[in-house]
Amino acid sequence: MNWTDFAGWSRRFADWTADYHRSLRTRPVRAQVAPGRILNALPDAPPELAEEMEKIFADFETIVLPGMTHWQHPRFFAYFPANASPPSILAEQLVTAMAAQCMLWQTSPAATEMETKMMDWLRQAVGLPGTFTGVIQDSASTATLAAVLTMREKALGWDGNKAGLSGQKRLRVYASNEVHTSIDRAIWISGIGADNLVRIPVKGPHRAMDAEALRAAIKADLAAGHLPAGIIACTGGTGVGASDDVASVVAVARDHGLYVHLDAAWAGAAMIVPEFRDLWAGVEGVDSMVFNPHKWMGAQFDCSAHFVRDPEDLVRTLAIRPEYLKTHGHDGVVNYSEWSIPLGRRFRALKLWFMIRSYGLEELRQRIRNHVAWSGRLAERLRAEPDFEITSEPILSLFSFRHAPAGATDLDTLNQRLVDAINDDGRIYLTQTLLDGAKVIRFQVGQFDCTEDDVAYAFDVITEIARNLEPQ
Ligand SMILES: *Cc1c(COP(=O)(O)O)cnc(C)c1O
Repeated sequence: MNWTDFAGWSRRFADWTADYHRSLRTRPVRAQVAPGRILNALPDAPPELAEEMEKIFADFETIVLPGMTHWQHPRFFAYFPANASPPSILAEQLVTAMAAQCMLWQTSPAATEMETKMMDWLRQAVGLPGTFTGVIQDSASTATLAAVLTMREKALGWDGNKAGLSGQKRLRVYASNEVHTSIDRAIWISGIGADNLVRIPVKGPHRAMDAEALRAAIKADLAAGHLPAGIIACTGGTGVGASDDVASVVAVARDHGLYVHLDAAWAGAAMIVPEFRDLWAGVEGVDSMVFNPHKWMGAQFDCSAHFVRDPEDLVRTLAIRPEYLKTHGHDGVVNYSEWSIPLGRRFRALKLWFMIRSYGLEELRQRIRNHVAWSGRLAERLRAEPDFEITSEPILSLFSFRHAPAGATDLDTLNQRLVDAINDDGRIYLTQTLLDGAKVIRFQVGQFDCTEDDVAYAFDVITEIARNLEPQ
């Protein structure tokens, strides 16, 4: 393909993009295909000869599109959102056009300096003090792994990378059961081991770690000769939005010199709204915090904002400087690959710059305020229905509920059948979770183009499908 043909196709795809987004309400949210359908529609061997783009694009529409779950659908109420605001998509088009490898300052100074500035804009936007600096990671999972490695190295006196863990005391890390599975994986990968992730019981409506139980667990580990390394707290857990009392976690950590990482992957975006910041009160005391602008905020995936109080700890853990990566004569520049696990880096800050300028913080805040208000109204409507109960109160825009008609015995099976029937219907998309062992249905409002009517429509779909469920 030459660049003239490229320009024509690129214009066609731009039109397709806008049409696609405008048509989303007419499409089923979750893909309605059986397993194997796309695999079997694709040829077994690669073509030996060139094919026309016209044909490739036609196959995209007939083979690929039906196999897509539409994450940008305004009635996507499952998981958490993965919003791609239009200005962030446009910025990504420019980024892919230039396709730079932004691992070092000199491999694209604009990418590094834009990243420094955008992380500071985000810091101000969520109300973190100026003592924090940050880096854009590819995912919250990577940021959490980087934080766990940092707490490991700090606890080992910076010797773990060199000497390994054999012969060391058992490192111990503390978290509740409400944290995301990315924490488990960080513990596995860092060599700390799942047996040394100490689960602290939760209490209260926010399902927060019990600070006294946390303190007791650390003391017991010290008495047993173990080496406490850090605490992982969460604001807005994935199941039902569990949020630790960050201030009390930080207080315990201070007493024992432990590193604190806060996972606010989803909820962090809502902290651009000052009245929601009570949820993470005490955040200024953590050592490390991650939130994903690629979830609720609207920056196209991937874009994970990782803030640290002392970047030296992170760089001391992760920086590696072979001769070919040394940039002689540029002392004082930041090389963000020293702050992250992969060497290669995309230019992720540009979409933040486009998005934040194009809406202004006030419009981004209003969207989140709306989502929280609409979700709260839906929870009230479901609560008022005799056959439904609210199983966890809204935390920001997330709550859970279940269908509990009089006389029903196996509510877990009934609610799984309800979720499956809703998603097979396709007008809305929901997911289930386990809450104290019981199956409940999650509902979160957060898609960028969602309206109050879409949320009200969800009420109609849920109650209609529940009424029509075949008896067990
Ligand atoms: C989504 C999510 C993650 C994982 O985020 P990735 O960027 O996909 O790694 C971690 N923690 C919480 C609370 C999340 O909601």
